Amino acid sequence: RMKDALAARSEDDLRSPICCILGHVDVGKTLLLDKIRQTNVQAGEAGGITQQIGATYFPAEAIVKKTASLSDKGKMNIKVPGLLIIDTPGHESFTNLRSRGSSLCDIAILVVDIMHGLEPQTLESLRLLRDRKASFIVALNKVDRMYGWLPRPNGPFRASLKVQPQATQDEFAMRVARTITEFAEQGLNAELYYNNKKDVRKVVSLVPVSAVTGEGIPDLLGLLVGLTQKHMTNSLMYLSELACTVLEVKAIEGLGMTIDVVLSNGVLHEGDRIVLCGLDGAIVTTVRALLTPQPMRELRIKSAYVHHKSIKAAMGIKICAPDLEKAIAGSRLLVVGPDDDEESLMEEVMSDIATLHKMVKKS
Ligand code: GDP
Repeated sequence: RMKDALAARSEDDLRSPICCILGHVDVGKTLLLDKIRQTNVQAGEAGGITQQIGATYFPAEAIVKKTASLSDKGKMNIKVPGLLIIDTPGHESFTNLRSRGSSLCDIAILVVDIMHGLEPQTLESLRLLRDRKASFIVALNKVDRMYGWLPRPNGPFRASLKVQPQATQDEFAMRVARTITEFAEQGLNAELYYNNKKDVRKVVSLVPVSAVTGEGIPDLLGLLVGLTQKHMTNSLMYLSELACTVLEVKAIEGLGMTIDVVLSNGVLHEGDRIVLCGLDGAIVTTVRALLTPQPMRELRIKSAYVHHKSIKAAMGIKICAPDLEKAIAGSRLLVVGPDDDEESLMEEVMSDIATLHKMVKKS
């Protein structure tokens, strides 16, 4: 079946890239996510939080809008359906969660505080990204903290830099040079993304941003989409073979116990028979509802979830089903097909249990 699925792939049918955020504590990961989503999780006020499901989906239209200011040559040509960003910074999604042996995420944003440069946890993240041979870009955050910075909210970075006083521009150049040296000390070439004309997969792109003013966010989104759709089409070709991972197990008022999953390939349907890891052995149950949050701009409104008959990858989904009380975060989720033997799927899913236990202990 896997062979058929592979043969059916096409560059005209790409799935959304999945992205996660890493970095040292206090570099601004949470605020950056908030700014990208236009929510306010860091201040703890958004009504939208209650319906967060571990991953935010940006449809292509939203990305076109958010990157429109980057170029006067017209809209960005977007070939992927959208972008799925894992909401929890430093989530296990990159480190331990794997779907089909590879990382759940396709690309990472490593956030670095421009005022501090590379910090201990940044180095740890770098090691991890290298071990995984993962693609990543660097968000050089807090540019607004440089002396004399004149903010131009939500605009592209280079337009902001141009209007800064000379001393601020000099400080920026000095801090970037220092960061590039620090990357070199780690054996990595890095360049400001707009100067990165070499092989972008070998030279790390630095994207200056501010999570407070929103400057550089268009650049960040544009680069994420541009890089993934240009260089990762092979791994982004939609695959009908299911790949799905449980991010969180959560009780929700009115819904009971639910699981939030990332569907990285394939389709899920209401009524699907699913198999996942449980504390007392494999859980086999039936999908009662497939839910997603309200579309982007309505995240602030505390309203019901959107129900779906079926959902195609990639997407973050809340699943309602009976018997989820003992579900384990990090588990793979399998669907019982017409020719499948339920028992062997139960064995297959539980074969990951040793790794999952390690994760549970750690956290
Ligand atoms: P995290 O630990 O990486 O998730 O960092 P937070 O998002 O919680 O941010 C840590 C602190 O830095 C908070 O006080 C933020 O308000 C502040 N901060 C984050 N990003 C920026 C930025 O771009 N500019 C400025 N001036 N402050 C920021």
